[in-house]
Amino acid sequence: FGGGRSTGLKALDLTDRSAPLGVEKPKDFTWNQLLGFDACVQCGKCEAACPAFAAGQPLNPKKLIQDMVVGLAGGTDAHFAGSPYPGKPIGEHGGNPYQPIVNGLVDAETLWSCTTCRACVEECPMMIEHVDAIIDMRRFLTLEKGATPNNGAQVLDNLIATDNPGGFAPGGRMNWAADLNLNVMRDTPSVDVLFWVGDGAFDMRNQRTLRAFVKVLKAAKVSFAVLGLEERDSGDVARRLGDEATFQALAKRNIQTLAQYRFKRIVTCDPHSFHVLKNEYPAFGGEYLVQHHSTYMAELLAAGQLNVSADTGGSVTYHDPCYLGRYNGEYEAPRAVLRALGIEVKEMQRSGFRSRCCGGGGGAPITDIPGKQRIPDMRMDDIRETGAERVAVGCPQCTAMLEGVVEPRPLIKDIAELVADALVEPAASAKTTQRAPEEVIA
Ligand code: SF4
Ligand code: SF4
Repeated sequence: FGGGRSTGLKALDLTDRSAPLGVEKPKDFTWNQLLGFDACVQCGKCEAACPAFAAGQPLNPKKLIQDMVVGLAGGTDAHFAGSPYPGKPIGEHGGNPYQPIVNGLVDAETLWSCTTCRACVEECPMMIEHVDAIIDMRRFLTLEKGATPNNGAQVLDNLIATDNPGGFAPGGRMNWAADLNLNVMRDTPSVDVLFWVGDGAFDMRNQRTLRAFVKVLKAAKVSFAVLGLEERDSGDVARRLGDEATFQALAKRNIQTLAQYRFKRIVTCDPHSFHVLKNEYPAFGGEYLVQHHSTYMAELLAAGQLNVSADTGGSVTYHDPCYLGRYNGEYEAPRAVLRALGIEVKEMQRSGFRSRCCGGGGGAPITDIPGKQRIPDMRMDDIRETGAERVAVGCPQCTAMLEGVVEPRPLIKDIAELVADALVEPAASAKTTQRAPEEVIA
């Protein structure tokens, strides 16, 4: 994935006040970034893959890179021969290396339309890093201008006040598990699995996924515990919205908490938490073995720790979450879990590393830049094309975005729910379809 490149964002030095934070002007990009932009051959592969462009939002990654080239040389975009940002005629923007980018070269809403899905980066033959550049420019807008649009400012305030983006009372973080009798790390000397719950704890739909995963962990007799009220938002959304300060504060506090406890691995149902903990916490001293729940469940099934019957709920397609697939290269484990349930996945045309984003990443539902259609509606069309009755997902954002599509539509099931539904008691194992490890991994 990503040609072996790191997919984590680079930490911003918040103590260096000799220059504005983030990128304000073309000259603020690093030389490597500028050379990268200059290498663009205008092949248009990024544009063809971009969900925001397809939805008619004012973003086109190819034009964005070409605009940066214009900014470096000085001039206007009048000579750009490709497609404009939807709704923004060509010839009205320009700049130079020393002029602020936003409202000269590009409008802020272009930057806020990005879901950070990395489809553009994945396709680019010149290995240009569009997402890093977009976040660099968002950092300036958020940190120096306080100009995060729509619900952005509210969400960032909530994170500071309550440690969760929804602004829910922090004391309610474990309400979803009130009857589950879960072990809490503070009272547990050491465990195999620290179950990182994520902010889905406050969302009724996602609570069903969390409860399903707990059922799976208990069935496999895994030694696990949660942080309980000591868990805080991972910082993913703050960082994608450009609020590096809030991200770093959350990351450091979570790392401090985790340092008190003994566990072998962290497992989470949320690919955004997974990515941040695995790839972005090490820069702040937090190094852990972190797994997505699909990876962990594939291991449990392969080791024969779960007895499952064949799924009988109808045909299934699988939606790859961007932060699990493109960001972390995990395409196989969720499919191995589905195979272990006897499910033959009806693949979408855009699946695996070419999966189309659900529209939920990068804070895009929060900044909410309008287009001609909605990205989740387009993804639901991809799903409908397969004829599948259900779509298996592995991310609370994907679940929320896809369930927001008006019915009739296929049913949305998290992989943990599918596994939990298929669990059978060991005593009834005569009827199980438990597979040999090599069969699951194959
Ligand atoms: S990351 Fe996704 S939404 Fe953002 S520019 Fe690239 S393809 Fe478009
Ligand atoms: S994929 Fe890369 S090289 Fe091709 S147009 Fe986009 S940025 Fe330029």
